Amino acid sequence: MSQEIMVLGKKVVIEGDPEAYLMRLCKTHVHERITVFLPHFKMKPKKITILKSHNKWGSCNASRELTFNFMLITQPSEFVDYVIVHELCHMVHLNHDRSFWRLVGSIFPDYRKYQIKD
Ligand SMILES: [Zn+2]
Repeated sequence: MSQEIMVLGKKVVIEGDPEAYLMRLCKTHVHERITVFLPHFKMKPKKITILKSHNKWGSCNASRELTFNFMLITQPSEFVDYVIVHELCHMVHLNHDRSFWRLVGSIFPDYRKYQIKD
């Protein structure tokens, strides 16, 4: 059975289990984009996890373990990049103070369009 789903903000038709498909796609895409943004940082994430049921788009803890909601892959690619940059910046600043946003802005100048809490 084929069905229509959103991938990076665009409609695609897939066969089979959409959840497994999105999960796999999200994993590949997030890893790819992290590689692109990583040269901005002096450190690397310790672990990158794609989660199924998560109420946030992403998170980062004090051990530099990043998690992303697999549904992130349904969102427009610019927003996905924003969430990735946001979480990567939490490796440097665990809070949302001025220096955090300055760092986000130095990598993703358009961040005000998307500003999220977590
Ligand atoms: Zn945050």
